[in-house]
Amino acid sequence: MNELSTSNAGETFSCGALMGEMLAPGDFVALVGELGAGKTEFVKGVACGLDVPSDEPVTSPTYPLLNIHHGRLQLYHFDLYRLSGSREITELGFEEYFSAQGVCLVEWAERLGELLPAEHLVVCLDVIAPDKRLLRFIPSGNRAEILVRQLMARCQ
Ligand code: ADP
Ligand code: MG
Repeated sequence: MNELSTSNAGETFSCGALMGEMLAPGDFVALVGELGAGKTEFVKGVACGLDVPSDEPVTSPTYPLLNIHHGRLQLYHFDLYRLSGSREITELGFEEYFSAQGVCLVEWAERLGELLPAEHLVVCLDVIAPDKRLLRFIPSGNRAEILVRQLMARCQ
């Protein structure tokens, strides 16, 4: 089963950090889960795993919904909570990042609708208890399947 549970924010961060170490140019990670589920915590870990300097704070982007961090690869961190519609994505020119040589981590990715790239990895975070989260990994495409397999092997 492509899932694991974390017992505190640090474990979610660590899981993100492991993924950050494995990400490759063009990877697209769609983060799904309610407010407070831990999506941003996971992205903070990814930034750490990508060697983004620790003096670059990773927070949920507000307007214009995108923060760019510079690590081993560029990290395009989107938060689409305030998105008015998928047309805004096109208008803001965000799609060019989806096919760029960095990695995309997208909070509230379900709001992309048809703009979600065919090849992507969904990370679904569910709140099980105040400090407990269930992380489920749902790959679409070969690259995402490899990524999940590697991550699961390292999370054992
Ligand atoms: P989101 O981006 O999904 O809205 P955040 O990552 O900003 O969520 O916030 C998650 C909150 O839940 C943080 O305050 C964090 O400390 C807390 N938390 C408690 N347990 C966990 C856990 N197991 N994993 C992630 N966050 C947790
Ligand atoms: Mg967030």
